Amino acid sequence: MECKEILNILSDYVDGELPEARCLEIQEHMKACSRCREFVESFQESLEIAHNLEKKSPPENVCESVLRAFLESCRQK
Ligand SMILES: [Zn+2]
Repeated sequence: MECKEILNILSDYVDGELPEARCLEIQEHMKACSRCREFVESFQESLEIAHNLEKKSPPENVCESVLRAFLESCRQK
């Protein structure tokens, strides 16, 4: 699995909506890829912060800005 694929399914992953096999693929990737590991951690943190602030699902633009930052870091490889 590539970093880009993680990106595509990450929001489902943090929502717990992915099938177990896909979750395992993400977890395997994160073992090998420290950047994705750190990214998923910060993604989950920002979702939690947004949840606490909004008391509901985070606004779409929060997810987008975090994902865009991740894409930027992929490009700087
Ligand atoms: Zn990665």
